Amino acid sequence: MPEGPEVRRSADKIERAVANKPLTCVFEHPSLVAVQEQFTDVKLTSIETYGKAFVLHFSNDICIYVHLQLYGRWKTGRSKSIKPSRRTLRMRLETDTHYAALYSATDIEVLTPETIKDHPFIAKLGPDLLRKGYTASHVSRRLGKTSFGRRSLGALLLDQSMFAGIGNYLRSEILFRSGLLHSRKLNSLSKTERATLASMIHHTTIRAYQTAGITLDDQYVDIAKTKKWRRSAYRHFVFDREGEKCWVCQSEIQKVQVASRRLYFCPSCQT
Ligand SMILES: [Zn+2]
Repeated sequence: MPEGPEVRRSADKIERAVANKPLTCVFEHPSLVAVQEQFTDVKLTSIETYGKAFVLHFSNDICIYVHLQLYGRWKTGRSKSIKPSRRTLRMRLETDTHYAALYSATDIEVLTPETIKDHPFIAKLGPDLLRKGYTASHVSRRLGKTSFGRRSLGALLLDQSMFAGIGNYLRSEILFRSGLLHSRKLNSLSKTERATLASMIHHTTIRAYQTAGITLDDQYVDIAKTKKWRRSAYRHFVFDREGEKCWVCQSEIQKVQVASRRLYFCPSCQT
């Protein structure tokens, strides 16, 4: 499932393709067919992302909520290049030149700007790490809330009510970069450890957004590139690298299950 950075990049792509231009909207999902008549002569004004959910804002003051879950897909491109798909079309937004089409998703709802915050999925989310103006000091203040203190870091980081958008690869990478083991409780961290964790939660998520999913530092990425390694071999510090050598200390990366999801760590770099 895509994580916050991938969802935001996908929203950027849809905006680049079809935002702020006159649209032809083709709606096939039942909840959208009901409002089809209100979508003549409209523009897509922006897309907000809430962790793994999209909210499309239109110039008619109607919003469309989409959660892709495991099977939903967006496709964008030039209108000329639309190819028939075996997937079920849910909606297609077309300008004179480009399109954005949503396939297979089932979690689609019509909202208004006022009802977004009350949507059952959005209402439960913590702050989105990729929201403009959300900084490492906001992260740090949120970590300081006593109600989170007794949770283990491995469980806490996946909890979308803590921060929206952290998924499985970001969890392992944030913990590695913070030098912390998943089993540590938030309230066991020293002041310095907590500050490092806050900074790495923020930094790693932003980096993944900017680099399309690379969380490994540039110094190692550059080494791998000069050796002409494939991209998947230099994406992460630890995630999906069981049995391979830690980039920093050469120890063997280990894998465990935490909160029913796989987690990777370096037994020497993380304490
Ligand atoms: Zn290491």
